[in-house]
Amino acid sequence: MQVVQKQLSGCSQLTAAKKKAEVFSEVEAAKYDFGVAVDRMVTSFASPAIRPAKGLPRGIDARRFRAGRIHMLYEAAMRTQGRPLCLAAAERLLKLEKDSTVLFLTGVLHPVFFPKGETDGPPGVVGLARALNLGLGLRPVILSEAATSDIMRQASASMGLSGRWDRKMGPRPRSADVMSFPVTDVATTQKEVKKLLDKLNPSAVVAIERKGRNTKGEYHSVLGTPRGAFEAKLDYVTEEANNRGILTIGIGDNGNEIGFGNIIDDVKKIQMFGELCQCPCKGGIATVVKTDLLIPASTSNWGAYGIEACVAFLLGRGSLMHDSEVEKRVLEGIANLGCGDGATIETTPTCDGTGKASLYLVDFLKSLVDQNLETKTREF
Ligand SMILES: [Zn+2]
Repeated sequence: MQVVQKQLSGCSQLTAAKKKAEVFSEVEAAKYDFGVAVDRMVTSFASPAIRPAKGLPRGIDARRFRAGRIHMLYEAAMRTQGRPLCLAAAERLLKLEKDSTVLFLTGVLHPVFFPKGETDGPPGVVGLARALNLGLGLRPVILSEAATSDIMRQASASMGLSGRWDRKMGPRPRSADVMSFPVTDVATTQKEVKKLLDKLNPSAVVAIERKGRNTKGEYHSVLGTPRGAFEAKLDYVTEEANNRGILTIGIGDNGNEIGFGNIIDDVKKIQMFGELCQCPCKGGIATVVKTDLLIPASTSNWGAYGIEACVAFLLGRGSLMHDSEVEKRVLEGIANLGCGDGATIETTPTCDGTGKASLYLVDFLKSLVDQNLETKTREF
């Protein structure tokens, strides 16, 4: 942004005060336009439609099944927030104190389908973690179940961050720490969450593709099946952070993830199993867990990449946005350890059945950052 500001000053014949106002508005416009472009890219509907094995439930409006639900979730979030979502999140992260901890929550776990988790989540975490670490000097800590700690370490290393700190010697530059949280009951979870936040004292908690409970306290897959027995209740971390006034951000792609409590009524209307799930709780998949900022994206990774692009743009450093070569390395690294595609459960280097779209997206975002950091003079 400083680059844009510098180029814009000196190109006007106005008085100093007027010039300042003019420059400010052009810089603001540049930010806003960039934010809109990024939001549109990361909410382009690229996932295949998912059909339950037993077919669509009786009486379900087919639009809930096919009609690009992500743009509806996005529009609902925009109605509550009013500023391009990835840009707004990046602006808040830029204000955090250097050397403070950013706690990331991610991971999907199912003993049969996803014993090593899903490829949506960890890549988004490490992409954003790298930009925050290199760009702002923040210290990322990634929290998941112990069963997927190796996935988080692999994703970090593939992204260029060392996977671990030596806790006695202190944090290493260009690193992300990985911690695990037990799969346990609500009372123990709440106790452990308080201890964890006391210890880490994070300046922000960012949940990327991490489930939040519904009105009945149950957790669900997008197709309304119960998942609470297999995963840690990390949504209590977000809620405790909310209580402590710590910045919270939620990124998801369906409405069952942490943050969608901000637009729970919309999720109930938009999602196939939003109101009524396929499990005995009958409470639907829509979560009650809120965050300061919510970012719906086509796949959760993409929402994180959108923030990453905005951080790179606002800091005037295109190198903070990773490219398709690195993206491929991350996806291959975690798939080779058994991480599965959320749409197919195959251990392929793809995310939510979108094929090569993630590779194209990060290169497009990187190009968008680079092009927008320059103002071209047209002399004809
Ligand atoms: Zn249920």
